[in-house]
Amino acid sequence: MVNLLGHDLEALAAFCSERGEKRFRAVQLFRWIHQRGASSFDAMSDLAKAFRAKLADSACIEPLPLMAEHVSADGTIKWLFDVGGGNAVETVYIPETDRGTLCVSSQAGCAVGCRFCSTGHQGFSRNLQSHEIVAQLWFAEHRLRARLGLAAGERAIDNVVMMGMGEPLQNYAALVPALRIMLDDHGYGLSRRRVTVSTSGVVPMIDRLMQDCPVALAVSLHAPDDDLRDALVPLNRKHPLRELMAACARYLQAAPRDFITFEYCMLDGVNDAPEQAHELVRLVRGQSVQSRTPVPCKLNLIPFNPFPASGLRRSPPERVQAFARVLADAGIITTVRRTRGDDIDAACGQLAGEVQDRTDAPRRMRREPIRIVPRVQETRP
Ligand code: SAH
Ligand code: SF4
Repeated sequence: MVNLLGHDLEALAAFCSERGEKRFRAVQLFRWIHQRGASSFDAMSDLAKAFRAKLADSACIEPLPLMAEHVSADGTIKWLFDVGGGNAVETVYIPETDRGTLCVSSQAGCAVGCRFCSTGHQGFSRNLQSHEIVAQLWFAEHRLRARLGLAAGERAIDNVVMMGMGEPLQNYAALVPALRIMLDDHGYGLSRRRVTVSTSGVVPMIDRLMQDCPVALAVSLHAPDDDLRDALVPLNRKHPLRELMAACARYLQAAPRDFITFEYCMLDGVNDAPEQAHELVRLVRGQSVQSRTPVPCKLNLIPFNPFPASGLRRSPPERVQAFARVLADAGIITTVRRTRGDDIDAACGQLAGEVQDRTDAPRRMRREPIRIVPRVQETRP
């Protein structure tokens, strides 16, 4: 049985054509699934009975089983979905006055293993498939529409951020069809500016995304130099800042916005000193020894959200403010992210789900002090 939740319109058109149906049938089917939230072919009254029977023989529209729902005092909702094999992923809805944002997961666990991230601590189990990524939006959109009593055509979610569990650019093949379904006018009709892929810096895939589906890009920076970034985001050893900043600048040629959002998780005594803020200014201006490529950007400072076993502390608010001031004084638009859903562990970096780790990440990482191993300088003749 193929789960049609993960078929973008092109794939659905091919699927229908194999069964002798015209493209407009695929459009109808696609709209039933994503706009009206149908999960059974029976409900699709404007499709011929014979076609519906043919569909039911070989396909299904199967949401992810819901394991738990937690509602925070501030209105944030966290859902836990069963993805089989003892794994579960989390999705978070963040209501705002004029719109709603959904934070979507792309993998069960994560192989990057950032030092300050709860998902990273659990290691990696598997990639989600396209239908499992889309199922999170499908479920949230239709459940919220019913709960908020929205009229037909009104949307509950108009902003999607790929900032849940996992590194989306390490699950590229499943990510792109899911993004296309989010953007499609016959699907969720989200604007490219309101769908954000967040990455820890998978450089070759940033270039691919620019070709295939250039949505808004957020890059998790967390350090102004390679030595510290190597210690916090292990992927930096493979794709150092020089390459990452160059990829960001290239991406802007196709991006729906004229800036990259850099995320910076504020860790007490690790990356929050005023001198590091000055170094960060030099980095994004292309005036640092690390990188000569200027990148037009906004800076999003995220106060570290602690979780058991991290062994790290959140930067005190005055230190965050001082850091933000250095950036703002240099003319960089800087925001400090408000933590939402604190009481239900739904904040950035706290999503744990349940992951059957297939690596030895937890043992490797637990409570070790952050060790900065300077890179060996290249010797020049
Ligand atoms: N893998 C992607 C997207 C998921 S993480 C990435 O790393 O960008 C989404 C954001 O949460 C990233 O910016 C990440 O660095 C940040 N984050 C992770 N753990 C955190 C924590 N404990 N406190 C605050 N932010 C955290
Ligand atoms: Fe993975 Fe992102 Fe967490 Fe790093 S911060 S471990 S890349 S999910």
